[in-house]
Amino acid sequence: MWTLMIHGGAGSMRRGKLDAGMEAACRDGLNAALDAGEAVLAAGGNAVDAVEAVARLMEDDPAFNAGRGSTLTHEGHVECDAAIMSGAERRAGAVAGMRSTRNPISAARAVMEDSPHVLMSKDGADEFAREMGLDQVPNKYFITEERHRQLVELLTKGADAFDADIKYGTIGAVAVDAQGHLAAATSTGGLTAKRWGRIGDSPLIGAGTYADDRAAAVSATGLGEVFIRAAAAHEVCARMRYAGMNLQQALDGVLAEVQEMGGTGGMIAVAPSGEAAWSFTTPGMYRARSGSDGERMVAIFGDE
Ligand code: ASP
Repeated sequence: MWTLMIHGGAGSMRRGKLDAGMEAACRDGLNAALDAGEAVLAAGGNAVDAVEAVARLMEDDPAFNAGRGSTLTHEGHVECDAAIMSGAERRAGAVAGMRSTRNPISAARAVMEDSPHVLMSKDGADEFAREMGLDQVPNKYFITEERHRQLVELLTKGADAFDADIKYGTIGAVAVDAQGHLAAATSTGGLTAKRWGRIGDSPLIGAGTYADDRAAAVSATGLGEVFIRAAAAHEVCARMRYAGMNLQQALDGVLAEVQEMGGTGGMIAVAPSGEAAWSFTTPGMYRARSGSDGERMVAIFGDE
């Protein structure tokens, strides 16, 4: 028995308002990512391999805000953040502000498995990834015309404009494998026009990403600053372990708290039982689920 749940960001997507080409590209991307994760899990593979496979595919897909197609910084570069966590021994690896490693999620995994550290940043993280033999690319590989257009639009609104309205974003995957082990992965370019080396919740273990075989694997998307303050992904697990909440209650409760603190977004999660759940406080969230029960769901809007 296995379950896979993925997201491609939460935001203001509304039926009839979302560009048809963008909607099709995202649905195709979610389906392809599910296929990649399913191939691992259906063959008896482990949850960490599955969430990494999903994240790599979505990082390569320019439709999502991770790897190629990431949002641009204030200076017009791409700086990627990613994290991966294994629920069995609560091992974790993360990277922040990477500029030249094609698949940040694989760098995060290398941090987890091939270094004594949990979080590496900037040039050092890219240097480590290079030493680990991971693909290096020029920063312009990550930059798409659409993200450039979004940066110009935001900057012309005023230098202090903050991209809290994340229309299509960050990617994440959570899985429980046939052995009952959990894993979570999250990867992002962060917020458009970010500056001063701003880092969001995605690469922070316990904020945007967490996995604990005793509770759940969680990946978040939304206004990172608030998810950090709420320790959102860990808080979901804490509510399950200490308050006896089920997965859905824990997700809904934490997102309500995040909203009270001034942030919107979404989270996906799986439990060791194979249960999958999601919740979001934005109009939509790119999300998809599949499992050994043969059911497959791909959705974007709030009413799906
Ligand atoms: N949470 C991400 C960040 O704040 C952005 C997103 O989810 O789209 O960096």
